[in-house]
Amino acid sequence: MMLNKEYEAMHREDLEQLQLERLQSTLHRVYRNVAFYHQIFDDRKTDVEKIRNLADVNQLPFTTKEDLKKSYPYDMFAVPLRDIVRIHSTSGTTGKPIVVGYTKNDINTWTSLMARVMTAAGITEQDVVQIAYSYSLFTGGFGFHFGAERLGSSVIPAGGEDVVKQIMIMKDFKTTVLAGTPGFALHIGTVLKDSGIHPEELSLKTGIFGAEPWSRNMRLQIEESLRIETFDNYGLTEIMGPGVAFECSAKQGLHVNEDHFMVEIIDPETRMPAAPGKQGELVFTTITKQGFPLIRYRTGDISAFLEGDCPCGRTLRRIERISGRTDDMMIIEGINAFPSQIEEVLLQIEGVKPHYQIILERSSGMDTMEVQVEVEEQVFSDETKVLEKLRLAIQQRIKSAMGIVCKITLVEPKKLNRSTGGKLKRIVDNRDR
Ligand code: ADP
Ligand code: ZN
Repeated sequence: MMLNKEYEAMHREDLEQLQLERLQSTLHRVYRNVAFYHQIFDDRKTDVEKIRNLADVNQLPFTTKEDLKKSYPYDMFAVPLRDIVRIHSTSGTTGKPIVVGYTKNDINTWTSLMARVMTAAGITEQDVVQIAYSYSLFTGGFGFHFGAERLGSSVIPAGGEDVVKQIMIMKDFKTTVLAGTPGFALHIGTVLKDSGIHPEELSLKTGIFGAEPWSRNMRLQIEESLRIETFDNYGLTEIMGPGVAFECSAKQGLHVNEDHFMVEIIDPETRMPAAPGKQGELVFTTITKQGFPLIRYRTGDISAFLEGDCPCGRTLRRIERISGRTDDMMIIEGINAFPSQIEEVLLQIEGVKPHYQIILERSSGMDTMEVQVEVEEQVFSDETKVLEKLRLAIQQRIKSAMGIVCKITLVEPKKLNRSTGGKLKRIVDNRDR
């Protein structure tokens, strides 16, 4: 089912014309209102008047996560704060997060896109939608909430509840649709099994999951344990939040909402377009956003275009499910984290070396992180009490820096396995993805 057929199944030429007009007005707006763009367009002698067709996009500069970090908190906003009605931010808790703002119009666009992607998953006003994403600075909860409400579904804002409560609500409130991270859905499935509730006792039929990568295998496990059909949903705070790209019932890749976001896939080394069908880094340009427009934003997410027509009739281009990142960003229980954050913590603690290895596992659907840290020779021979204190101190500091509670294991110097070049593999990801 399509909610906005006139846009979702538009003739490509008409869509491209629409994109061009929207791009041109976005370029004028950012040049006028965002000092960062004014400066780089001037420096690179980019004349916005000269962008006359879509292929000219490759003359425009890229925007990176670093650029956004430097703009903390409001320097990339293209409207005054009085026109902003909502503020969200990325989960990066060390250093500065990236802060984004939405105008009334932006919230309206986001809501309609969320209603669109939920319609594609067959969700209607008949459904009872349980939202297990957190309602916070993170965009997941609010994005799905507003979209489902727009559709007229009965929305349960369950985001803050634990797994036991989620299951109780699901059973008693007769939830038909679950929205959340695939990791949490898997966890719900496991706990459900352990508590002896048969999935047939539930009214659940659909799951709409995203915000982190999930493998085909994980999808099968979720579908099996909850007896549901699942749909993938991709998005990122910087561009909007969930709803940037979505699966239709054909489930042959994710359609990008190209009437609002232009998409490119580049080779991250050469920054030139990736060869047709080849994997590369997703790059988005927002063409309708007012509060926080971005030009050629490098997401760090890896995907590829899928060619050909989709059986669903939508003409919106499709991308493969996200298969990884160009950098070492990890997503642990929905929190985006980088190994460098752990390194920063270790450098501030006496008695340990910044030699560490991160081990990621998944048990009953929950991600766990262990950090093995090499300590200095004399510390290692200290009494257990001293080591225990050190261990707790590291755990505490990582928690406050990253928002993640992890297991810390202290090991002797040079204990961690180094490759022949003496390099330590920073991340060992044993989660099934
Ligand atoms: P969100 O609210 O969508 O989680 P964040 O800004 O916290 O937004 O995280 C965005 C990142 O999460 C993306 O850049 C990508 O790496 C990852 N991500 C989001 N959705 C998916 C998905 N469906 N599949 C794989 N990775 C995803
Ligand atoms: Zn389709």
